[in-house]
Amino acid sequence: MFALTYQGPFDVRVERVPDPAIQEPDDVILRVTATAICGSDLHLYRGKMPAMEHGDILGHEFMGVVEEAGPAVTKVRKGDRVIVPFVIACGECFFCHRELYSACETTNPDRGALVHAKGIRSGAAFFGYSHLYGGIPGGQAEYVRVPKANVGPFKVPGSLADERVLFLTDILPTGYQAALNAGITRGSSVAIFGAGPVGLMTAACARLLGADTVFMVDRHPYRLEFAQATYGAIPLNIEKQDPAEEIIKATGRRGVDAVVDAVGFEAKGSPVETAMAWAKLEGGSSEAMRQCIAAVRRGGRVSVPGVYAGPLHAFPWGDAFEKGLSFAGGQTHVQKYLPDLLRHIGEGELQPDVIISHHLPLAEAARGYEIFSKKEDNCRKVVLTPAG
Ligand code: NAD
Ligand code: ZN
Ligand code: ZN
Repeated sequence: MFALTYQGPFDVRVERVPDPAIQEPDDVILRVTATAICGSDLHLYRGKMPAMEHGDILGHEFMGVVEEAGPAVTKVRKGDRVIVPFVIACGECFFCHRELYSACETTNPDRGALVHAKGIRSGAAFFGYSHLYGGIPGGQAEYVRVPKANVGPFKVPGSLADERVLFLTDILPTGYQAALNAGITRGSSVAIFGAGPVGLMTAACARLLGADTVFMVDRHPYRLEFAQATYGAIPLNIEKQDPAEEIIKATGRRGVDAVVDAVGFEAKGSPVETAMAWAKLEGGSSEAMRQCIAAVRRGGRVSVPGVYAGPLHAFPWGDAFEKGLSFAGGQTHVQKYLPDLLRHIGEGELQPDVIISHHLPLAEAARGYEIFSKKEDNCRKVVLTPAG
């Protein structure tokens, strides 16, 4: 089959690779019908993750049709059309019982290495996300092996087109978890930093939950304009204004009820330097985080879907303490939110596919990565379609 493989920083290629096969009784093999490129894939693409190997298959946002099911699979069967959460969870451990699926402690023995406290239990494996996250081949491919198929895949009604439901695999639940972590309810005010796919899905979910005022902060005018036109957000461009100052002025010198950091890790320097920083868990710039803490009101919430690694430089804990802030973040517990969000899509209350700017064949995936990474050609979100 053909699949998108990692060859090194800024070098991904569609290549012929062996077809995946059932390895465990509860695996399925999926024929991929649609897959998307995520901001999280950019961390890998830019060489920020140390545990990537030559030839690793990328991709954690994908859906398709079950081609083959292992003997222990009862949840889905051959021919079912399914979406697959990027988080691989067992459904049976301490954390899965608490619906903390991305903390599943049985699917990836290696993720404990990502925190300094030695001996801590690992979190879940993810598709196509380096050997720190389980080394599981991803779904930017014609076929993919899906482990834990009695937990992960969700059937979707045939009436909903692929692109309408595809973002249930990651960014829609991520935006929803971010909005819930921000404590958004009817009448809330929120400032979202980062108008990428995750920030946009957070804006959609903030509106769904009844947010009144939504500020959107970014440096790309085309992304800000889209957020304004689609979600009624008030745009703030970090290249032209100090977002926290503007937000404080516009909210009676209080600040917003909640802020969302949908930017995350932005280590500066060459891919090699940033990979080393990640490997040593040295973290990166905390510019977006500093702005968030400055823009939120006293007693407010700081919600962080953006991915960080290691300590952050110049993290203003004193301000956070003085303002009495609450923080929440982490990888998304996709399985927890997916059924509710699928219902909202079915009822027409959420239309996540409006953010798609590019449809490309899988064969042109490398170009998709390049334009999404460079924010060229007004790129917001790329969906790839395998041939056949
Ligand atoms: P993206 O790269 O398309 O979007 C990031 C946006 O942030 C860009 O538009 C960029 O211009 C903007 N930005 C950069 N610095 C900024 C600053 N200082 N202030 C305001 N905006 C700034 O990526 P995306 O797909 O939207 O993903 C965003 C983040 O969410 C990434 O870190 C990604 O890894 C993370 N993510 C987390 C989860 C999760 O489970 N928690 C899931 C998916 C993605
Ligand atoms: Zn993703
Ligand atoms: Zn588990």
